[in-house]
Amino acid sequence: MVLKNIKYALKNITKPPVTRLYPEVETKLSDRFKGLQLLDKSKCIGCGICANTCPNNAIRIVKAPIAPGKSKERWFPEIDIGHCLFCGLCIDQCPKGALSSGKEYAKGLVKWKHEELLMSPAKLAREIDIEDGDER
Ligand code: SF4
Ligand code: SF4
Repeated sequence: MVLKNIKYALKNITKPPVTRLYPEVETKLSDRFKGLQLLDKSKCIGCGICANTCPNNAIRIVKAPIAPGKSKERWFPEIDIGHCLFCGLCIDQCPKGALSSGKEYAKGLVKWKHEELLMSPAKLAREIDIEDGDER
């Protein structure tokens, strides 16, 4: 067993390392990776199908401005990622294609308090930095 391990080590000694210096070197994500949802407000009709589909009850439909600085409001999803499984069902079931998967998996998603994990429509639309705390 020891000899086998030494032989294996010698054989691979010239090969590049397979480990990464995370977080300095970020992990390359597959195209199918499911990260924080991205909301396209212009496509969302506030139907609530995403909320009804969510197996973990992580989505609420809330009123929010249609765009930054606008006073007009419409209904959009708000996601509590403290309960989200990142299963992607909300994305698959949206009849308007208003939700897609972002690539964030750590930055902005690691918080001290559960309430900071509440992703408002503005955060889902990336109108404001997801690193920020509760903006309301
Ligand atoms: S994101 Fe899609 S499913 Fe959810 S409320 Fe908007 S249109 Fe409906
Ligand atoms: S990814 Fe899954 S668990 Fe998360 S909000 Fe969407 S449906 Fe709910």
